[in-house]
Amino acid sequence: MNSKNPIQPLNNRIIKCKKCTRLNSYIKQISKDKVKRFSNEKYWGKPLPSFGDPRAQILIVGLAPAAHGGNRTGRLSPVNILGDWVAKVLYHNNLATKPTSHNVHDGFSLINCYITAAVRCAPPDNKPTRQEMQNCSIYLEKEITYLQNVRVIVCLGRIAFDAICRILTIKKAKFSHGGVIKLEKYIVLCSYHPSRQNTQTGRLLWDEWNQIFILAKKMSTNN
Ligand code: SF4
Repeated sequence: MNSKNPIQPLNNRIIKCKKCTRLNSYIKQISKDKVKRFSNEKYWGKPLPSFGDPRAQILIVGLAPAAHGGNRTGRLSPVNILGDWVAKVLYHNNLATKPTSHNVHDGFSLINCYITAAVRCAPPDNKPTRQEMQNCSIYLEKEITYLQNVRVIVCLGRIAFDAICRILTIKKAKFSHGGVIKLEKYIVLCSYHPSRQNTQTGRLLWDEWNQIFILAKKMSTNN
């Protein structure tokens, strides 16, 4: 990413953001308390920057970093505890260089896609408040403006979808897995979030998850 790309300065701002007092305290506390299996690791403990290919045609929007996932590693989705499904599906569809990713220095990078989230600080119980979502939406809004080649926006879960609907002023739209909304400039594609509650209960099956990215790739190249 070159120095003229506005995403990098935006990411620098996000990392220093302290707008949400509750989340700021929570991520710092979690970084001190840790969990046993990561007790030897130094946690990131700050808001998370987005990452990926700044010329991407596919934008993936998640909910928020996980307390012991992204908040530990400093990278959104693919290095969190649930991230295997994300990294694997992206690799499977030639959207990533590796099928797994465990830390920010492992050489994992994205191809023609970019990953961001509705909220950049890990929230307690994965539940940000309405105000926290509102505070953070300015960053997602700016990213959408800066990522000028984006054609398809994949929303992972209802919260990400609601955030995109607010930003793109999509009214009366319903979230459903595989749901598609065609706008003048973007195609919004919905998926269940690949959380454990969804993948381990069979609510989201691998084939259905994979189909989302097959479709996203297809739609990103069709005009
Ligand atoms: S959630 Fe977003 S707005 Fe709130 S402190 Fe974190 S980065 Fe800032």
